[in-house]
Amino acid sequence: MNADPRRLKILCVSASLRQKAGNVLVRMPPFAGNPIRLETARGLRDRSRAVHAGAFLRERRIAFDCAAREFPRIFAHELFHFVWLRAGNARRRSFERLLEGERRAGARGELGWSAEWRKRELADTDVRARGRRWREYCCESFCDTAAWLYSGTARHEEFTLAARWRERRARWFERHLGGRALPV
Ligand SMILES: [Zn+2]
Repeated sequence: MNADPRRLKILCVSASLRQKAGNVLVRMPPFAGNPIRLETARGLRDRSRAVHAGAFLRERRIAFDCAAREFPRIFAHELFHFVWLRAGNARRRSFERLLEGERRAGARGELGWSAEWRKRELADTDVRARGRRWREYCCESFCDTAAWLYSGTARHEEFTLAARWRERRARWFERHLGGRALPV
């Protein structure tokens, strides 16, 4: 299927940011949904940590505070927060089971720092109870996996998950999200 970037309308006052987003969208699966606004911001924080970007899902807006070379990976990650929100419980649970399998097998590493620090802080009780820390980890891991798959970033110091697990995740994305426009 050809990705059709026109299916997702990007609203952005900066022509250069819109262009950079368009360059990433052509590598991605097609999306279906209302426009998403992009903007730049300074000093973004998530609780106490500085972050590169934030997705404001109800406002349909993504704010960026990142270096230009990191933009493709970070844009892809934030966009997939919208996909996760609309993926449905069955698909989200399926991805959780994939990650549970990795954890049981002792798979270390991740495909982005956002998932990695959460993974390191997980306790068995978080996983068993499917508590907030576990669900946040699953969401961030989903978005980091999408960024690894679709951003066009072949190598990055934050891609620390072993190849066999990466390949399983790529197959999961193909099986569960491939072949149709993704609601955002
Ligand atoms: Zn995130």
